[in-house]
Amino acid sequence: MAPPEKIELKKQAQQLIEQYDNFLFDCDGVIWLDEKLIPGVLETIEHLESQGKRFAFVTNNSSKSRDTYIEKFHRLGFKGIGKHLIYPTCYAAASYLKEHLKVPAGAKVWVLGDHGIETELKELGYIPVGGSDPRLDDEFHPQHDLLKVDPDVRAVVVGSTKAFNYMRIATTLQYLLHENKSLPFIGTNIDRSYPGPEGLILPAGGSVVNYMSYTSNRDFIDVGKPSKRLLETILEQRDFDKSKTLMIGDTMYTDIKFGNDGQLGGESGGSLLVLSGGTKLKDLHHLIENPASLQDGPSLIPLKYIESFGHIIHLLSN
Ligand SMILES: [Mg+2]
Repeated sequence: MAPPEKIELKKQAQQLIEQYDNFLFDCDGVIWLDEKLIPGVLETIEHLESQGKRFAFVTNNSSKSRDTYIEKFHRLGFKGIGKHLIYPTCYAAASYLKEHLKVPAGAKVWVLGDHGIETELKELGYIPVGGSDPRLDDEFHPQHDLLKVDPDVRAVVVGSTKAFNYMRIATTLQYLLHENKSLPFIGTNIDRSYPGPEGLILPAGGSVVNYMSYTSNRDFIDVGKPSKRLLETILEQRDFDKSKTLMIGDTMYTDIKFGNDGQLGGESGGSLLVLSGGTKLKDLHHLIENPASLQDGPSLIPLKYIESFGHIIHLLSN
C-alpha cells in the first residue's frame, strides 16, 4: 500500500477539506491535551463549519458523560456543541445495553469505572450499582456486603477509573463469574494509555478492562473505537455518508483502525493521523517499516498525517 501522505502544503489542506463532508474527531490528543486546547484546532473547526461541513466527536474516554463534555467544549471556547454530537464510550455502553442486548430499563447494572458510566446508564433508565459507592473505598475483607452478588444485576460495565483498588476488582469479579459467567461483560475501550498532563503517559480504560478480562478469564464486548458497531451507530444517527467521512485521531490501533476498517472515505480512504497526541512520527515510521510485526498492521496505517489538526488553519492562511 502507498505510504501515508504528509499534509504540509496549503493545496493539500484545501484538498482535504474539499474531499470530505463529515469529520469524526477523537478528543484527547486531537482537540485538547487534558485542559489545554491544541493551538489552531478551534479556528480550524470554525472554518469547517463556515464551509458547511458536519462533524461529531468520538472519544474512547468513558469517565465523563456527554453533559460534562459539553461543559468542557464550552470552557475551551467552542460554541453550539450539542449533546447529539458527542459520543463517549460511557454513552456507547449504555446504548449497547439498550439497543443490542435489549436489557430493559429499570434493570441494575454493575459498574467498575468513573462517573460518566453511571450518568449515562441513569439517562437510559438503568440503575447503576458499584461505581462511585463509597463503600468500595473500604479496606477489603471477605465478609464485606458488596462481595455478595445482587441477583437483580443484569450486566457489567467496566471502564476507566482513577479509583482502582482491590475492593473494586474483587466485587466486580464476583459479577463476572456469577452464574457461569452469564452476565454480559461490556468493556468501554481497549486503550492502553493516553497522553496526560505534564507530558506523562497515563494508564487508560483498556488496562482496567483487560485486568478484569484476565482475572475472570472472559472476553468482553468492546463498545469503543475501533468497534464497527459504534461507527455504524454514529453514521446512522448523524446521517453521514460513509464515503464522504474522515476520521481524525492520534491513536493508530483505535482511531485509525476505526476509520480504515469502517471503510470511511470510500475507495480513497478516510483516516488522518495527528501527531499532537500519543503517537510520534517515529511510531508511524516504525509501523510503516514493520507492518507485519503488528497484528492488524496494514489497517493501522493512516491515509494521511499532519502535525496537528490545528495546523490546517495555519496552512490555509499562508
Ligand atoms: Mg486520542
